[in-house]
Amino acid sequence: MSNLLVMKFGGTSMGSAERIRTAASLCAEQYRVRPVAAVVSAMSKVTDLLLETLRHAEAGDAAGVEQRLELLRQRHETTAGDLLSGEFLARILPKLEEILGEFDRIARGMLMLGERPPRSVDEAIAVGERLSSELIAAWLRSQGTDAFAVNARDIIVTDSVFGNASPLMDQTRERANAVLKPALAAGRMPIMTGFNGATLDGRATTLGRGGSDFSASILAAALDAAELWIWTDVDGIMSADPRLVPSAKVLTEITYREAAELAYNGAKVLHPRTLAPLMEKCIPVWSKNSFNPAVPGTRIVPETGDNRSGPCAVTSMSNVALVSLEPANAALNGAKVMARSIEAMATANAELLALTSSSYRQNFCFLIRQSELPAVVEQLEQAFALELAHGYLHPIDVDLDVGLLAIVGEGMRGIAGMAGRIFTAISRETVNIIAIAQGSSEITIAIVVRRAGLEKAVRAVHEECGLGR
Ligand code: ASP
Ligand code: MG
Repeated sequence: MSNLLVMKFGGTSMGSAERIRTAASLCAEQYRVRPVAAVVSAMSKVTDLLLETLRHAEAGDAAGVEQRLELLRQRHETTAGDLLSGEFLARILPKLEEILGEFDRIARGMLMLGERPPRSVDEAIAVGERLSSELIAAWLRSQGTDAFAVNARDIIVTDSVFGNASPLMDQTRERANAVLKPALAAGRMPIMTGFNGATLDGRATTLGRGGSDFSASILAAALDAAELWIWTDVDGIMSADPRLVPSAKVLTEITYREAAELAYNGAKVLHPRTLAPLMEKCIPVWSKNSFNPAVPGTRIVPETGDNRSGPCAVTSMSNVALVSLEPANAALNGAKVMARSIEAMATANAELLALTSSSYRQNFCFLIRQSELPAVVEQLEQAFALELAHGYLHPIDVDLDVGLLAIVGEGMRGIAGMAGRIFTAISRETVNIIAIAQGSSEITIAIVVRRAGLEKAVRAVHEECGLGR
C-alpha cells in the first residue's frame, strides 16, 4: 500500500489513560490524510509483571501469583475506566476480563505443575499487548475512528524459537495481505499487538524483549508501507546516552547500518533487529518522542546524502562478560578451538558482541551479555570437556569487570587517524583498553575497557570527536 503509515507506540507511550489518548490522537491526526496501521507495546512494566507472575507460579507461590494477577487487573480496569464510559466501557470490560482470564488460566497451570514451559510463557506474556491494543482501539472508536485490535498471532508467522522467534516473511506477507489489506482499503485502522506471533501451525511465540519495534518493521515490510514511525519517550536517536553525556545531541538523519550498529551496541531506542525487514524495500523510519511530538526526531534512511566525516555516535554497554580461551598445548589447533567455541555459542543462542584473537598463543576472547554467560559457559564446558580435563586447554577465563564502548559512523570509513584519536582520548583519561575490534566495514570500532572507566571513556570520545551540540 503506497501511502500507508505504520506507527509503533512503546510501553511508556501506552503507560496510562492520558498517554493512550495522546498516542490515539497521533494516530487519528495522520489517519485524516492517509491510511494508518498501529503497533503497540504492553503498558509500561506490564511484561515484567507478567513474567514475574509466571516465575512465582513456577515456584509454587500461590499468594504471590494472586497478588500480581490483581495488580494486572486493576491497572487495566482503572485505565479502561479513565478512558471510557457508558456503552464503550461496558463493551470493553468483558473483553479485558476474557484476556486476563487466559493469563490466569496459564499461570494457575504453571502453579500446579511447578513448571514454566517456554511455549506457554510466550502465549501468556503476549497478554500485555493484547490488553493495551484493545484499550487504545476502544478509545479510538469512542472518538469516532474505525479502529480494531488485531492479535499478531494471526498475522506474524515465525519460526519456533520460543522467546526469541524470527519472522517468516513470505507467510507473514500473505496473512497481512489477506487480513489487513481489505480492512485498510475499507478505511479502517488496525491496531496490532507488538511482540508476539505464532508458528505456521499456530503455536504462540514472542520476538524477544523489546520486540515490538521489530513487530512494527515486519508489518511495515509485509504491507509495503511508505514509512514507519516509532514513538518512544526520547527525542530521537542521540549521539550518546544523555545521562552519561549531558552535551549529547539528537541526530537528524542516520543510515540503516548506523542505526543497527547503535542498537546492537547498546543504544536502547531501537530494538536491534528492527531495521533488517525494511532494507530490501528501503522503507524510511522515524524515531519520535510521543511526549514531545513537535520535534521531528531522527530519520533513518538507506543512505544519507551528506558526506560526513568521522563517527556520528558513541554507545556503551555494561553487564557484559569477556570470555577468553587459550590452548595449553601446541597440539591443539587454535582455529579448531575457535570454530568449536563459536559453535558452542550458537548452541547457547548467545549473541557475539565482539571477538578478538592473537596468533602466537592462539589466545582469543569474545564479549557477550552477562545474562547469556551461564548458557555459554555450560556449552563451552561441554564442548571442551576432554581438553579441559586433560589440560590441553587453559581453564576458561571469565572477566565481568568490563564494559563495551562502540563508536559508530559511516563517516569513519577510509579516514586515517580515526582510531588513533579515539585511543588517545581514552588513554588521556587513564582508562585501560583491554580488547579492540573493528569490522572491515569500518563503520564501528568496538573497545572493551575496565568497567570503572566506561563512562569516562564515553565522554572522552564524544568530546574528542565533536559529537555534541
Ligand atoms: N512488551 C514487550 C517487552 O516489554 C515488548 C516491547 O515492549 O517492545 O519486552
Ligand atoms: Mg520497547
